[in-house]
Amino acid sequence: MAASQLAVAEIRARLQAPEEGLSSSEAATRLQQQGSNSLPQARGRSWWQRLWAQISNLLILVLLSAVVITALLGHTLDSVVILAVVISQALIGLVQEGRAEQALAAIRHMLAPAASVIRDGHSQRIAAADLVPGDTVLLEPGDRVPADIRLERCHSLSLDEAILTGESLAVEKQPEALAAASALGDQTNMAFSGTLVVRGTGRGVVVATGSRSEIGRISGLLQQTTGLQTPLLAQMDRFARLMATLVLAGGLLILLLGHWLSGLPFADLFIAVVGLTVAAIPEGLPAILSITLAVGVRRMAKRQAVVRRMPAIETIGAVSVICSDKTGTLTRNEMMVAALACGVHYRQVRGDGYALDGGLDEPLPEALQTPLMLAAALCNDASLQAAEGTVKIHGDPMEAALQVLVHRLDGDPVRLAQHWPRRDEIPFDAEYRLMATLNHNHQGRHVLWVKGAPEALLQRCRQQLDDAGNSVALQTGYWLEMIERLAADGQRVLALACKEYSGSELEMSDLNELQLIGLVGLMDPPRAEAIAAVAECHAAGIAVKMITGDHALTASAIAARLGLSNSAEVLTGKQLDELDDQALQDCVGRVNVYARTSPEHKLRLVQALQSSAGSGADSGNQRADGQGGAVVAMTGDGVNDAPALKAADVGIAMGHKGSQAAREASAVVLLDDNFASLVAAVKEGRTVYQNLKKGIAFMLPINGGESISLVVALLLGHTLPISALQILWVNMISSVILAMTLAFEPALPGMMQQPPRARFEPLLSRRLAWQVLKVSLLFLAGIFAAWHWGMAHSGSEAFASTVAVNALVAMELFYLFAVRYPPGQAISLQGFKGTPVIWAAIAALIVMQSLFNWLPLFQRTFNSSAPDVAALLVAAGCGIVLLLILQLEGWIRRGRG
Ligand code: ATP
Repeated sequence: MAASQLAVAEIRARLQAPEEGLSSSEAATRLQQQGSNSLPQARGRSWWQRLWAQISNLLILVLLSAVVITALLGHTLDSVVILAVVISQALIGLVQEGRAEQALAAIRHMLAPAASVIRDGHSQRIAAADLVPGDTVLLEPGDRVPADIRLERCHSLSLDEAILTGESLAVEKQPEALAAASALGDQTNMAFSGTLVVRGTGRGVVVATGSRSEIGRISGLLQQTTGLQTPLLAQMDRFARLMATLVLAGGLLILLLGHWLSGLPFADLFIAVVGLTVAAIPEGLPAILSITLAVGVRRMAKRQAVVRRMPAIETIGAVSVICSDKTGTLTRNEMMVAALACGVHYRQVRGDGYALDGGLDEPLPEALQTPLMLAAALCNDASLQAAEGTVKIHGDPMEAALQVLVHRLDGDPVRLAQHWPRRDEIPFDAEYRLMATLNHNHQGRHVLWVKGAPEALLQRCRQQLDDAGNSVALQTGYWLEMIERLAADGQRVLALACKEYSGSELEMSDLNELQLIGLVGLMDPPRAEAIAAVAECHAAGIAVKMITGDHALTASAIAARLGLSNSAEVLTGKQLDELDDQALQDCVGRVNVYARTSPEHKLRLVQALQSSAGSGADSGNQRADGQGGAVVAMTGDGVNDAPALKAADVGIAMGHKGSQAAREASAVVLLDDNFASLVAAVKEGRTVYQNLKKGIAFMLPINGGESISLVVALLLGHTLPISALQILWVNMISSVILAMTLAFEPALPGMMQQPPRARFEPLLSRRLAWQVLKVSLLFLAGIFAAWHWGMAHSGSEAFASTVAVNALVAMELFYLFAVRYPPGQAISLQGFKGTPVIWAAIAALIVMQSLFNWLPLFQRTFNSSAPDVAALLVAAGCGIVLLLILQLEGWIRRGRG
């Protein structure tokens, strides 16, 4: 019989699944027997598919045809060398791609989904892969159901089952057994693995895991492919392909014209054209750029920011506004009840964090303290676990703080809960901002306990308690004053209320005519590192907006402590609703604190920021889509945050307290929920972008210099200063070794004192294009000068071209130091100190270049000839002169302002 037809008690008996959950040891045994709760991953591409992807690149195809033609022409040596280069290029490409994929795979496991289970008697978060049949699982809005679950308790639980059934409307669930076997979509008492909790909460027993679950049976494979592709890479790919096509067409033209007009021997001309082709195509560039991105992904992961969608790594560096949640992101989410307002009494609470000892500065009347403790303990889903002198909390930190308060009032929340079993509940809902439970004690009293945002509760209360425990009329004015007093101190205010109630089930409409017990004020101090990060954002021209569900005064007080600018001006969700889109756009740039908001407001804020002029800290940041708005990063954690996370330029989900739905909607996940990590990720994003630019600025002039040299030589009928094979050597060995180091460059000093770049700033800007042209010409001059000096010095073409190759490599090396810093700043102690990667690359370069110069096999292959000291000095001189010229130009430019 299917699980849906059995009563939960029957399922529990069959699976030996006790109500208080499995023990850890039993779970471990079952895990070993049943295997992990994960689906088999789709296998990646096979090695030959990956090899083909490398070979099917235009340059490789050109080289392969060159291999065939040179062989046919009888130039066997050339043919063999070109073939060797092709093979090594394909292998290097394979290895690099493999490493980049590994980098992504390594961070993917950081995002492994988690599940809330009851084990060893209390609820805890575990990796979803560790679930076993018989586990008791709790479901909340935003969760992906981690296994097939027979539900035993549901509170307005609705699941989106589209992944299984294709039905896009959420399905309401209930726990009763079904009479007959039914199709998946009709099994209303089952929650199937992979479906999404849209609303409500639930609890149930795991009946099938891994490939035995319905989704495991249907699909078997879980496709999970995020390539290393980004818009900039795609742009560069297109650019490289365009260049290659142009160069090939040009090469063909030169070949035909040269042969036909000047009657040059075809074989010589062909080799020269191959050289030109190789010289002009920036073959190493795509690899360098993807490595730069992969290094960026790894660096961000180290700083607790995991990139889920590659394009985000580019966008995050251009962010001009960060919209952040307050609780847990800007604050520590370590709550502590600091003050109480109960009846007419205001009390301060002594104690330290979650430590259980502490108490009130003055006692409260018993008739007030008892209901206060009961409400705090019963309308509460958290639990405390004393371990090795500290207290570990499970569940919501605010609810845990209320349990600690009960201890400090000399109560025991566990015993109270045993005396007052829960019959029903209305889980916390951000829309109503309250939570309620219905409990009955053993003397037959039924009481409804409610806690929530004070505005939400006050309007449902008619009465309050006096010192003797009698009901008296509610003094709304007094409570409003107390709310302000607590909130102005930066405390999160919560109201507690109760009512005698005879029914057995709870509905929202029952929550009226309540009796107010009192208010508690909870401290949640700002994170020290968030204060520094806010200041860093301001210096970097990034506006920070705080969006919170908390009270306006609490929000404003915390914002002031965080150093948020204009913290006194607060817009509440209600005020926001009254503004039309234009009015919102007009004030969204100015207002930095948004209080009592619900998730829907976040979407409006993102849209307003994206389309309002001057909404960033730096209003010069224009969007290329014609709008003058900001590039927005938005944080979120709940299922209802998903639309805003998707709409933001960079959606950022909280890894710790965030729901699976929020993660799936976001581009980046913050593992530690910390605002400072977010800012660190922005910094890494800016660094990645800088390094991409450095990679391009480095590679293009080398290709430019080489190809212009060849064209000039061909046009002037000059001997080629560097042969095709030598160019292959330089491009495949020295250029790649040196350029690779740029992927690992640290951020430039002062980077976070600059405003964000315009989002759609072209990578190859006019300034960069000018630099490419200028440096190409310098390379050209260096190559010819070295060649002529070599000829004059020795009279041998082999020697002259060896000097030219060495000069080219030396110019590359010095140019590497020049591109690392802005113009005019390369010659500095800092600049010459380099990085360990650079020095390793230089060592490798020297070894390889020595082989080129002095190893007889290489001399024969590349037609090189051992350079003497003077030749080496000339080569080095070319490099130094290049660096000096660039530095001089930088100085002059800076001098001009
Ligand atoms: P932030 O946006 O700063 O992260 P938040 O989104 O966590 O805050 P909500 O969770 O929406 O804010 O909470 C809004 C208000 O609802 C709180 O100020 C509090 O008064 C009330 N509240 C929060 N959690 C609970 C709960 N578990 N039970 C009852 N009331 C709650």
